[in-house]
Amino acid sequence: SSSSSISIPNDKDKLLDGLLASGFDEASCISRLQSHLFRKASLHKPSPYLISKLRNYEELHRRCGPESSAYSRSMMKILSSKNNAAAATCKYLVWIPINGLGNQMISIVATFLYAVLTDRVLLIKSGKDKYGLFCEPFLNSTWILPKNFPFWNYKNIETYQSMLKKDKDYNSKEDFPSSLFLNLQHTKDDLDKFFHCDHSQDLLRNVPLLILKSDQYFVPSLSMNPSFNPEITKMFPEKDTVFYHSGRYLFHPSNEAWGLISSFYQEYLAKADERIALQIRVFTPDTTPQQAVMDLLLSCIIKNKLLPELDTQNSASYTGKNRTMKAVLVTSLYPEYGENLRTMYQNKSTVTGELIEVYQPSHEEHQKRHDKTHNMKAWTEMYLLSLCDVLVTTSVSTFGYVAQGLGGLKPWLLYKLTTNETHFPACERDFSLEPCYHYPPKHYCNGKPIKDFASSFPYLRGCKDFYYGVKLF
Ligand code: GDP
Repeated sequence: SSSSSISIPNDKDKLLDGLLASGFDEASCISRLQSHLFRKASLHKPSPYLISKLRNYEELHRRCGPESSAYSRSMMKILSSKNNAAAATCKYLVWIPINGLGNQMISIVATFLYAVLTDRVLLIKSGKDKYGLFCEPFLNSTWILPKNFPFWNYKNIETYQSMLKKDKDYNSKEDFPSSLFLNLQHTKDDLDKFFHCDHSQDLLRNVPLLILKSDQYFVPSLSMNPSFNPEITKMFPEKDTVFYHSGRYLFHPSNEAWGLISSFYQEYLAKADERIALQIRVFTPDTTPQQAVMDLLLSCIIKNKLLPELDTQNSASYTGKNRTMKAVLVTSLYPEYGENLRTMYQNKSTVTGELIEVYQPSHEEHQKRHDKTHNMKAWTEMYLLSLCDVLVTTSVSTFGYVAQGLGGLKPWLLYKLTTNETHFPACERDFSLEPCYHYPPKHYCNGKPIKDFASSFPYLRGCKDFYYGVKLF
């Protein structure tokens, strides 16, 4: 395995083929230097255009980011003018967290792409629960929203919805608000937001400060926009690598997280011939019996030969020497899944003669909010999943999407059980590395309903794990 022999990496590997900027203080973020040693050589190279867009973005972020004089000047202007601030100000996109860490990470990637496409500076409103999970992604600056940000409480500023309604009242640039709250979170009684439309983007372009809240991977809706689409295609000629490259660019485990990830990997996973990751997310534990989930999981992994059956006949006799070893990484809130699998394979022979070892790093029982230790476990586990060779995730789980995207893996999607049911097939192979956008727009920009995504937007396809969703492929 690659990790057992840590060699001096050359810069090309270290910087992921130019995706990452050079010049970072390496000790402050060891994972930036070492992560490639834990992964197979990448099959996907970042395009020269993506690299140039990133270097330009970093320049913008340095010039306009917190700590710069341009930041203070821009905020003063935005604050003092009720209406559209003078054109000279830097433009900003502030991301507001909502939901679990997986949801947050996929929406950060979408928001970052939106920032790059619109020349805005991305700033992250981060609670204490996320401090210390990630390194700073942008050279010589910070992406953390400063505490003295004048719109920390954004409840009283104009909303995107009201701007759409007032559309006709905007006669000149001066009529636009200087700050705007843009809610792209999915809610049950959602009206279409027409965010993918040129007209909406033309309005938004006039607002220097956007505060965006989302838990969605809305990259497909950016792709649906006629102006953004060619840019995205040029940045990502391999269409399903938006999360793969952007995620590897943005999310570097902090030294604390990297200590946990690298020591777990080296102790349990490095020695294996193959690493199989199983992400078991139970969305409604009260109505979903553990046995039903276990049956589903076994059906998926045995039928697709991800793990071998037990040799109940004891017909095969394998000597200890040439046995290959598969390490199984189980992540779940519940301890039983790892325990059951471990018991199943412990001291048993398998029909293939392979040795199976099962590891589950944690079992938190409940999803916790605003808890840094809990989030640290979630982050290290998403990352560890992404380091494996074969990935099984649970349908619809954004926790699994992060592992899939960072790892560049097409996972087996376990059916999302919510009751004591059986389901065939138990899992299906995904066709894309991308996360699913669960709630895409329902209408064309002229108001007509979108009946068939694929015929109008040939780069999008319906998700296998969620009927309403679409993704790039
Ligand atoms: P989703 O709800 O599956 O789409 O994923 P999210 O990450 O948005 O929210 C689920 C949250 O529950 C995670 O962020 C964790 O806090 C917690 N969680 C769920 N599954 C696991 C797991 O396997 N391991 C750990 N450590 N935490 C988990």
